[in-house]
Amino acid sequence: MTSRVALVTGGTGGIGTAICQRLADQGHQVATNYRDHAKALAWQQAMAARGYAITLVPGDVASPDSAEAMIRAVEAELGPVEILVNNAGITRDTTFHRMRAEQWHEVINTNLNSVFNVTRPVIEGMRRRGWGRVIQISSINGLKGQYGQANYAAAKAGMHGFTISLARENAGFGITVNTISPGYVATDMVMAVPEEVRAKIIADIPTGRLGKPEEIAYGVSFLVADEAAWITGSNLDINGGHHMGW
Ligand code: NDP
Repeated sequence: MTSRVALVTGGTGGIGTAICQRLADQGHQVATNYRDHAKALAWQQAMAARGYAITLVPGDVASPDSAEAMIRAVEAELGPVEILVNNAGITRDTTFHRMRAEQWHEVINTNLNSVFNVTRPVIEGMRRRGWGRVIQISSINGLKGQYGQANYAAAKAGMHGFTISLARENAGFGITVNTISPGYVATDMVMAVPEEVRAKIIADIPTGRLGKPEEIAYGVSFLVADEAAWITGSNLDINGGHHMGW
């Protein structure tokens, strides 16, 4: 397999860490962003102890200027970004009738506007070079909705519209654009959900358990492969059967 330069946003998180490892295992040169330098350095050292050399660059995906600077920093260290995984995300859950404007905007900025902020500075280079992979990490809740997540579900559903439009525009340039919609995965984001709510969620999953971050990372490695060149504008559900069909 050709070694590529990959940027995974939010790579220090639960799912992001597994994606960074999986892409590095495949021989790619992997970078991710950080906002808190001390926290990121500790993460980088833990990764090094496991044999992974992951490049760290500063970057807040919710800020267009910071996102562009992040891309230029990756280019300076590793070369042009060939694989982009838009993975950074947050939740600010509450029912809509109680939702404050900042809870709406923070989630839309971090989970959806980020996709513009980060993809825009890489797409022209991918088109010029005639190869690229762009993957959005969306969510099961962008497909089926969720109580208390009007902001999050709106952002995650928006990723699908972005994906299928960008896929059309770039299919003739060797670039594939796809979405992965994970179900509930055992990361800090889901472990922050009250235990009784989590138990109800698990009871609703046909496979009877939460997903593992590695199971999402496997989907990423599938979509970035050269052999996946004819898969574009797709959504890959990885959810233990929690949501099936359309
Ligand atoms: P985590 O909370 O473990 O990790 C989130 C990552 O995103 C962290 O590295 C965090 O960095 C980063 N991040 C957040 N905001 C920003 C920002 N403004 N700029 C740059 N980086 C930022 O989440 P998960 O690993 O669980 O989730 C990863 C993705 O998967 C998210 O998009 C999430 O919505 C999606 N997802 C997760 C599911 C799950 O069950 N866990 C289910 C479905 C989808 P920092 O440390 O600086 O905060």
